[in-house]
Amino acid sequence: MKKKVYVLDSSAFIGGFCSEKKPNFTIPEVISEVKDVKSNLFLQSAVKKGILFIKEPDNPSMLKLDGIIKKSGDLIRLSIVDKKVLALALTLKKDKFEPNVVTDDYSMQNVLKILEIPYRSVLTEGIKDIYNWIKICKGCKKKYKSDYKYDECEICGSPIIKKRIKIN
Ligand SMILES: [Zn+2]
Repeated sequence: MKKKVYVLDSSAFIGGFCSEKKPNFTIPEVISEVKDVKSNLFLQSAVKKGILFIKEPDNPSMLKLDGIIKKSGDLIRLSIVDKKVLALALTLKKDKFEPNVVTDDYSMQNVLKILEIPYRSVLTEGIKDIYNWIKICKGCKKKYKSDYKYDECEICGSPIIKKRIKIN
């Protein structure tokens, strides 16, 4: 059986997507595109945890992709970073992985359809698979279920705030 992996573009990181169950791959340029501090920390911790791998697409995959997008007319709307992310998916497919690209970019999704590589968007469906909301006390950090109906912590009386957490 082929091993399922995720290929992430910058919209995936900004949307907070990074699977804990399957390996995630991206290209070096995406790392430098993610400028906002929170997303960048998220990304660095994923590399440290060994769930995110940074890899360059190979040349034959870049050439193959160029040929395909020339035909499809999506050339202009794709940046070099977009193209490299797509080529990385092709490289991984050749390496006997089953890549699943995570992107909110419609041009990229169109090319992925032609390449017959599965994809998912972050904002529409990705987040609810790996994140959930909880309530947490600002003071003592006690966690409450998201349907907890009081605004103050039962232990220390501090306000309770909503927080997004990973559930797997
Ligand atoms: Zn408390």
